[in-house]
Amino acid sequence: MKILVINTGSSSLKYKLFDMNGNRAMTGGIVERIGEKESGISHMVFSKDGKETVYIKKKIVDQNQGMHEVVSFITDVKTGVIDAIKEIDAIGHRVVQGGEKLKTAILINDEVKKTIRDNNKLAPLHNPSNLTGIEVAERIFPGKPNIAVFDTNFHQTMPDKAFLYGLPYELYEKYKIRKYGFHGTSHKYVVKEASRLMGKATDRINLITLHLGNGCSACAVKKGECVDTSMGMTPLAGMMMGTRSGDIDPAIVGYLLENTDMDIRQLNRMMNKESGLKGICGLNDMRDIHAQAQKGNEKATLALEMFSYHIKKQIGAYFAVLGTVDAIVFTAGIGENDHIIRSKVCDNLSSFGVEVDLKKNKVSSSNPYLIHSESSRVQVWVIQTDEELQIAREAVQVLGKD
Ligand code: ADP
Repeated sequence: MKILVINTGSSSLKYKLFDMNGNRAMTGGIVERIGEKESGISHMVFSKDGKETVYIKKKIVDQNQGMHEVVSFITDVKTGVIDAIKEIDAIGHRVVQGGEKLKTAILINDEVKKTIRDNNKLAPLHNPSNLTGIEVAERIFPGKPNIAVFDTNFHQTMPDKAFLYGLPYELYEKYKIRKYGFHGTSHKYVVKEASRLMGKATDRINLITLHLGNGCSACAVKKGECVDTSMGMTPLAGMMMGTRSGDIDPAIVGYLLENTDMDIRQLNRMMNKESGLKGICGLNDMRDIHAQAQKGNEKATLALEMFSYHIKKQIGAYFAVLGTVDAIVFTAGIGENDHIIRSKVCDNLSSFGVEVDLKKNKVSSSNPYLIHSESSRVQVWVIQTDEELQIAREAVQVLGKD
């Protein structure tokens, strides 16, 4: 069975084609800067000798044209992996906000599209583009099933004591203001992987999963299910991130509105795009920040310290939530690659039973690996996330059910 996974943003379209007989990625890529002057497509060609990226610059006006370009690439005699689109069995879509109604991956029909649209207010930067991707796919692959997998799905098991805010209850009833959490597909993938690697059934495993990329979130996982997560009603909440502030005193918003020239749009932009690591040291790529810190840039060093401190505090909170923790899992760009952040985060956690072996931690591998010392009560894993594969797997499950 072949599943095409697509993730449509406002100016990009990421895609990956899977042969599910063997969970193998056949190809993938990204259409970037859609609607801008300098659009282009990076397309991956996998061969026996490894992978190679083909890049073409081309003006792409919208997602529809972008998807047509993707189809040309994947069916082309040189860059392609299939002869015709009829070989694709289904399309799996990443959709950010499922709200409370869409708790699991689902076959898309008009009613599901309406519910996604109803959730636009909760995810104005993402859901409308995700919906565009769905409509484009329906036109380009007529008659093929489309399945939506939501970033919020994995967190729908949180109890109300964890997902409600200390605000008037009517705000939840009337406007659905609550914590939803994001990166759920990634957290779910690494939970399954950790369970497989540790040889322990998913429903018997307690984990703290740390997705540390440009966006960062932590998840407390009890018996395989999410019981709390750090992001909130939007992805702005929780730990400090690349350009997002994470949690701040909510009164700061009112203070800035009253005492500066900023309006609410500028304020939102500042908290989402100009804060976090970037706000502290002017840079948001972790590799650049390390390079600057090594040169003695004090703001870069401060940004690293703050970033690690936020994660450490989150781990402490989730130990309290879970009681017992079998493993901590690091994933995503920083979690998978940055041994300095990992060791800062886990430093001084021995009273929680977490001890990292500095030598093992420095290992770099494209396969999952353990970084704890022999005396550590809690395992510490580095596991490469694969959100697209998780979406493809869930699409197959949905098709099986139908
Ligand atoms: P996204 O949230 O956009 O999917 P990623 O998971 O790709 O983000 O993570 C991006 C982050 O990972 C960036 O801050 C980048 O600097 C960091 N990163 C990637 N590779 C490394 C590395 N080798 N060492 C440290 N940080 C890295």
